Amino acid sequence: MLIFKEIKPFQQWLGNQRKNEKSIGFVPTMGALHEGHLSLIRKAQEENDLVVCSVYVNPTQFNNAEDLAKYPRLLEKDSLLLEEIACDVLFAPTDTEMYPQKPSIQFDFGSLEKVMEGAYRAGHFNGVGIIVSKLFHIVSPDKAYFGQKDLQQFLIIKKLVEDLFFNVNLVLCPIAREESGLAMSSRNQRLNEEQKQLASHLFKALQIVQEHLKLHKNPSLAEQAGKKYIADFQNITLEYLEITKADSLQKLSEVKTTTEEVALCIAAIIGGVRLIDNILCDF
Ligand code: AMP
Repeated sequence: MLIFKEIKPFQQWLGNQRKNEKSIGFVPTMGALHEGHLSLIRKAQEENDLVVCSVYVNPTQFNNAEDLAKYPRLLEKDSLLLEEIACDVLFAPTDTEMYPQKPSIQFDFGSLEKVMEGAYRAGHFNGVGIIVSKLFHIVSPDKAYFGQKDLQQFLIIKKLVEDLFFNVNLVLCPIAREESGLAMSSRNQRLNEEQKQLASHLFKALQIVQEHLKLHKNPSLAEQAGKKYIADFQNITLEYLEITKADSLQKLSEVKTTTEEVALCIAAIIGGVRLIDNILCDF
């Protein structure tokens, strides 16, 4: 596997691959890789000649300095995992390489960034917009792979690609889960076993909401049922549990008989670690 830390030699190599008409699949990550990330890379390998994975903990998308400082950084281990699954290239730039100067550009994603993650993490999606734009310009991938785990991020990036004519096809991949149902996340490394067990109740709450919606078709009652389930766990601090339209993430007021896709989304803090999860479904 090739490892690039600098943009220039990486782009030279990419240019040569393009001359040879190789298609490039791209998986951007913040590292501390787990099976969720690897599932994206495998999917990219199925659909492209070459796969690039980037590992970069992007400071501009963190609204909380402690969260940034505590984010796991395991580049050596990540690099071994990527070698093992035969990823072609790891791009692992430094902060000075990615941000030679503080960006002054500001993104506004409208109503999409006013809810959920956007509402709780001021400036987060601006940082996502900046780093993904930079990475797409550097890599110019044919296809880029993202996890449904960060559904709102995917919709923001879709908007970015549509509005700015990025020439890339986006692929949304399913959420990889532990046996307990807990959505895999780099942040899970900061939880002890007991906290991980507790964290699996976030997915259970979403399943309860889904069942309730299926039976009673009443979003507001289904939301209450999910919140009531979580309220029984003292050490889970719920930030939001929302039933939304999957394409806009705006609150769903009624379940229509058509097959409109619905997103059930949750965010909560356990042991100081912020976790998110979601289910996509229709009725
Ligand atoms: P991150 O390193 O957390 O920024 O994630 C990098 C990419 O991996 C994003 O597109 C995430 O949505 C995706 N990802 C993270 N966790 C999972 C998971 N459990 N299943 C599938 N994809 C995931």
